[in-house]
Amino acid sequence: MATLGIPANTIAVLQKYNFNFQKKFGQNFLIDPHVLEKIIDAAGVTDEDFVLEIGPGIGTMTQYLCEAARHVAAVEIDRNLIPILEDTLKEYKNVTVLNEDILKLDIGSFAKEQNHGEPMRVVANLPYYITTPIIMGLFESHAPLKSITVMVQKEVADRMQAAPGTKDYGALSLAIQYYASPKIVANVPPNCFMPRPKVGSAVIHLVHHEKAPVLVEDERLMFRLIRASFNQRRKTLANGLNNSPEINLSKEEILESIEELGVPLTVRGETLTLEQFARLSNIIKSK
Ligand code: SAM
Repeated sequence: MATLGIPANTIAVLQKYNFNFQKKFGQNFLIDPHVLEKIIDAAGVTDEDFVLEIGPGIGTMTQYLCEAARHVAAVEIDRNLIPILEDTLKEYKNVTVLNEDILKLDIGSFAKEQNHGEPMRVVANLPYYITTPIIMGLFESHAPLKSITVMVQKEVADRMQAAPGTKDYGALSLAIQYYASPKIVANVPPNCFMPRPKVGSAVIHLVHHEKAPVLVEDERLMFRLIRASFNQRRKTLANGLNNSPEINLSKEEILESIEELGVPLTVRGETLTLEQFARLSNIIKSK
C-alpha cells in the first residue's frame, strides 16, 4: 500500500536513514496524498502503461505509480536515496530503480531496452533547476512518448501554456506547443512539500502530438528564429532577427521574408503564432 504521502511516514523514513536534503538536487518531497492522487489521475496511468519517473526521492510517488502502472522505471541521481528506495519499494515487483543523471541518459536507447520502443508515460515531481532541459531533452530525443505529467514551478507552467500576445508567451511556450498540447491540471502550494519550496508549483499534463501541428522544413532554423525574436522583447521582429548573431540574413532579406509572411513589417515577434514561425522559417529556408 502507498503510505509515504502521509507526512508522519515521510518523516519516519527520513529519520530512520538520517537523510539530509540536498538543495543542489532540487529536493522537495511531496507530502500530500490528495496531490499525489491528482497527479496519477491526470497522468491517466493504467496497468498497461510503462512509466518513467524522474527523481523518485524516497519513493513517495513511485509507490502510487507502482499500484497503477504495469511497470515503473525510476531514475534518481542521488546515491544516498538508493538504499532508501530499496526499502520503501520492497513490496513492489514492477519497479526498476536506476542511479543515473536523467540529463545523461540516452532516452531513445532506454525506451528500446526497457519497453521495446513502445510509447511510455513520463510522470515526475521535477527538480526545478533543470525543468526545461529535462522536458526538451525528452521531446528532442524523439523517444516514443504518450504523455508527460510533471510538477513544475507555477510560473514555468504558465509560460508553457501561454498563448501569443500574452505576457507569459515566449520561446518555451512555442517549443512545448510544437511537441505537445499542454494543460495545467492543478496548482500546488508550498505546504504540500518537505522542505517547502520558495515558489508556487503546478502540475502540467503534456499530451505528445502524434503528428507535428505545423509543417517545418528545418526545425533548427525555426527554433533559431524563435530564440532571436524573443531575445529582444518589445523590439520589432525585423530588428530582433537583424541583431541576432544566430541569423545570417541581410536586413533586406529579413524585410522581404516578413512581407511574404503577410504581416506588417513593424510586427513584434511575441505576437506570432507557431504556425507563422513555421511559415517564416520555410520562407527563409527557400531563399
Ligand atoms: N518524487 C519525489 C517526491 O515527489 O517526493 C522527489 C521529487 S524532488 C522535487 C526531485 C528529485 O529529483 C530528487 O529526488 C532529486 O534527487 C532528483 N534529481 C535531481 N536532479 C536529478 C537528475 N539530474 N537526474 C535524476 N534525478 C534527479
